[in-house]
Amino acid sequence: MKRRQFLKTAAAVSLIPVLPASAQQTDVSEDEPLAKSLNYVKEAGKAKGHAKYAEGQICGNCMFFRPDQNNGCALFSNRRVEKEGWCLSWVATP
Ligand code: SF4
Repeated sequence: MKRRQFLKTAAAVSLIPVLPASAQQTDVSEDEPLAKSLNYVKEAGKAKGHAKYAEGQICGNCMFFRPDQNNGCALFSNRRVEKEGWCLSWVATP
């Protein structure tokens, strides 16, 4: 590779945005196996009637929620969940 070609390639590569890992991952879907097993719902209100659900529990106040990780959930490898969602693993933020 000639020097000029190398410099062009290096300049082009430097323009590729570097996204945080969490931004490259998909949102958690209610239909995927782990979400189903945890009864994850995107709106906590849909969990009314579930034995473990109590009013006021949302992903946004769960200890596994990672607002600094694109609203990820630690139980889902920091993939994004809805802030107003819920699952049966909800634990109050200490
Ligand atoms: S563990 Fe917490 S943050 Fe994760 S999906 Fe369940 S309620 Fe939401």
